[in-house]
Amino acid sequence: MILANDNFQQLPVSYLFSEVGRRIAEFKSRNPEAEVIRMDIGDVTLPLFPSVAKAMRDAIGELTDSATFRGYGPEQGYPFLRDAIALNDYRNRGIDISPDDIFVSDGAKSDIGNLGDIYSKECTVAVMNPSYPVYVDDSVIDGRAGDLVDGKWSRLHYLGCGPENKFLPSVPDEKVDIIFLCFPNNPTGEAIGRDDLQKWVEYARSNGSLIVFDSAYEAFVRTPDAVRSIYEIPGASEVAIEIRSFSKTAGFTGVRCGYTVVPKSIMAHYSDGSVVSLNALWNRRQTTKFNGCSYVSQKGAAAIYTPGGQHDVKAATDYYLGNAKIIKAAFEEIGFKAFGGQDSPYVWASAGDGRDSWELFGYFLHEFGFSTTPGSGFGSNGEGYVRMTGFNSRENTEKAMSRLIEKLKTHNSK
Ligand SMILES: *Cc1c(COP(=O)(O)O)cnc(C)c1O
Repeated sequence: MILANDNFQQLPVSYLFSEVGRRIAEFKSRNPEAEVIRMDIGDVTLPLFPSVAKAMRDAIGELTDSATFRGYGPEQGYPFLRDAIALNDYRNRGIDISPDDIFVSDGAKSDIGNLGDIYSKECTVAVMNPSYPVYVDDSVIDGRAGDLVDGKWSRLHYLGCGPENKFLPSVPDEKVDIIFLCFPNNPTGEAIGRDDLQKWVEYARSNGSLIVFDSAYEAFVRTPDAVRSIYEIPGASEVAIEIRSFSKTAGFTGVRCGYTVVPKSIMAHYSDGSVVSLNALWNRRQTTKFNGCSYVSQKGAAAIYTPGGQHDVKAATDYYLGNAKIIKAAFEEIGFKAFGGQDSPYVWASAGDGRDSWELFGYFLHEFGFSTTPGSGFGSNGEGYVRMTGFNSRENTEKAMSRLIEKLKTHNSK
């Protein structure tokens, strides 16, 4: 028998989403007439934009004709897409990023994990608490997390986020090598302002750290001071990698396409002291282990940058933000503390009366027939919170929230 990667042994079975599903199924079997509204959806629901769909059909047309057929494309992505990204997402916004800093991928999740190939196993890692679970689990699989002691990994640095710091982590007192930041944040829904992110860029510059900035939700930013790209902060292009995805921006969760920006100005050193750019290492990694994202997906992604595509991104993200606003207002009306929802499709809410995440999950499911995601599944600081998303339809969102308001009103007037 083969020797297995021991790092998997301590990895807790991710039971959060299966447990949510199991409890909803059990509730439905006991209450067959109840219509459960999913307020915990972690996936987009609107269909592809017509302009994107047309570009993808045209691309298939090209692949169907021997005169225009294409096989393997460049591992880094087609120039038409890298150029469109550099121009529209960066240069037109006054940020100096060039097409060869951009690596097109099949989505953000795989890149977050794959980046671990280019920095040392010795590097220490910091994650926000609560956070998207992928940063933690990838660190465990790669052997950077240490041992699980009382629910925490011994080598990970946890950046505590709560209402006391407006869910914005403070820079550590000691040096940490790799820092995962995600803004607008999943699960808290909070965005970060320029001054607050500036502190992190300064920290990384003075400590020789690398920031991995996950901005999967940048298209939802509406607050003028909230950051869409870390490269809006001066000096960031020497210390930060940015990860982006078309998944939440343009409904690509099933199509698959995203990109990672590794500016050529980020330098690293080998243990013998010789210096290398992370861009060169990532390029080497990708050309060895990745054969590119499909031509059809990349043609679809390029259509997002046409005026029609940009209009549709705005309309789709406005729709989800509108749902999030309804959810947040309803939770505030019933006296919960609610966060996010302004620059993000996520609303993060707590009763503030000691009820834990699973109690709240059960309360909303049994009393009002809608599901939430227990915040404790995102880290110990998520205890006492539930996450709701704006990804359901407007009709269902309104229905779920009016059940909440109406029932509590009737209850209070008795
Ligand atoms: C959805 C999500 C991703 C994954 O995006 P894909 O491109 O679909 O892999 C990455 N980061 C965060 C924070 C997400 O919520």
